[in-house]
Amino acid sequence: MNILLTGGTGFIGHRLMSHLRPHHQVTVLSRNPNKVYQRLGHDIRAIASLDELENLDRFDAVINLAGEPIADKRWSQEQKDRICQSRWQLTRQLVEKLTAGRQPPRVMISGSAVGFYGRQGDSLVDEDSNPHPEFSHEVCARWEQLAQAAESEHTRVCRIRLGVVLGAEGGALKKMLPGYRFGLGGPIGSGKQYMSWIHIEDVVNLILFLLEHEECSGPFNATSPEPVTNEHFSQSLARVLSKPHFARVPAWAMRLLFGEMADLLLTGQRVMPVRLQQAGFHFRYPTLDKALKETLNTPQGR
Ligand code: NDP
Repeated sequence: MNILLTGGTGFIGHRLMSHLRPHHQVTVLSRNPNKVYQRLGHDIRAIASLDELENLDRFDAVINLAGEPIADKRWSQEQKDRICQSRWQLTRQLVEKLTAGRQPPRVMISGSAVGFYGRQGDSLVDEDSNPHPEFSHEVCARWEQLAQAAESEHTRVCRIRLGVVLGAEGGALKKMLPGYRFGLGGPIGSGKQYMSWIHIEDVVNLILFLLEHEECSGPFNATSPEPVTNEHFSQSLARVLSKPHFARVPAWAMRLLFGEMADLLLTGQRVMPVRLQQAGFHFRYPTLDKALKETLNTPQGR
């Protein structure tokens, strides 16, 4: 397949590329093509702007993962705008180019997050659950709506609502590991909030699955079938690292440190990947223990 990928230099995109490049021709859209060559290799085709393309007819598939990191900085109004516009503008442009052609790509797989649902307590959440309106929902709902506009008789659109992606090379786990290694790991706030997580290898596999399965379209919860509470997650991580588990970060300290962004960690969703399972997708890492052991057993994780 001829694939256009955004976010190819990122945590997920980098791992995805190692699976795509032996079998497909991939063009990576990046703000900085040099980053593509350095991170992914000089043989990868990179473009800096969609203005270089009249339409997307030469591609069979588009995978859209780019966006300003959500949990890296406090949510000032300026940062919130960056989080939104980095996703919305690019997705709008992609869809404009895609719909400008006569033979558009057959599939567009576009990112989203379980933040789409907002805070949900301990209720089980599937793709039809009603979202709670808050910032994370706003970001994802518009991001998905813009992507969905690519849907036509030629093109199917799959929106992947990612949970916390576990991999040693980046994401949340890489940030958590130093504290846990010092024996300072522990739950956040009450620890009762749910965390929906997924192993990075399963993210890659489900993207490959959705590329190939022409009957699949619409929203897909990209989370393992075993969401756990924050306390459970924290205990499992400490156990796998053979470290103590008694520190606890109180909610007020999180709010003081991170402001509104603290809600991402203090509230959560108990998400089930109902549509992926119905479609026949098989998770290689369905349980947290297996996912953590594999992740921490890689050279980057050790
Ligand atoms: P990364 O943070 O690693 O970044 C993905 C890419 O987005 C970067 O390599 C960069 O590409 C591009 N990017 C970053 N900031 C901006 C910006 N301000 N404007 C335009 N492009 C930007 O993301 P992940 O790989 O971790 O995740 C991929 C997508 O999945 C993201 O949109 C993320 O929100 C979503 N997601 C990820 C989760 C996770 O746990 N990792 C969980 C839920 C959702 P370049 O510099 O080459 O332009």
